[in-house]
Amino acid sequence: MDCLFCKIVAGDIPAEKLYENEHVIAFRDINPQAPFHALVIPKKHISTLDDAASEDLEALGHLQLAAAQIARDQGFSSDGYRTVMNCRENGGQTVYHIHLHLLGGKAMGWPPYTDTLKQPL
Ligand code: AMP
Ligand code: ZN
Repeated sequence: MDCLFCKIVAGDIPAEKLYENEHVIAFRDINPQAPFHALVIPKKHISTLDDAASEDLEALGHLQLAAAQIARDQGFSSDGYRTVMNCRENGGQTVYHIHLHLLGGKAMGWPPYTDTLKQPL
């Protein structure tokens, strides 16, 4: 399958790996949007959150728990951080293998879409 993140799982494309277990791997984002920015992905290919099924429940849970573990390992869990999963075009998804963004090391604004809001709610 021609999927960038499956190639990272297979080791065919290099990545700065931060965490790995049976279900997930995590690596640094190449275009960081915060002082710390990692992606946690399931080893199994799932294109979008909308394509996840009940059999993926365990892997999806591992994404969040791995992010929390990495935040502890990196020393910013008590300051806080953000996890985000974008789904399809309106969510801003560009790589169609689901991934949980882990962003930390600075205070982040809310709501997250202020800069790009093109139409009134
Ligand atoms: P999204 O827009 O939610 O689909 O996020 C895709 C993310 O993947 C972006 O933050 C990219 O910077 C990141 N990305 C793309 N290619 C790579 C790569 N080879 N290694 C690490 N991160 C990548
Ligand atoms: Zn994939």
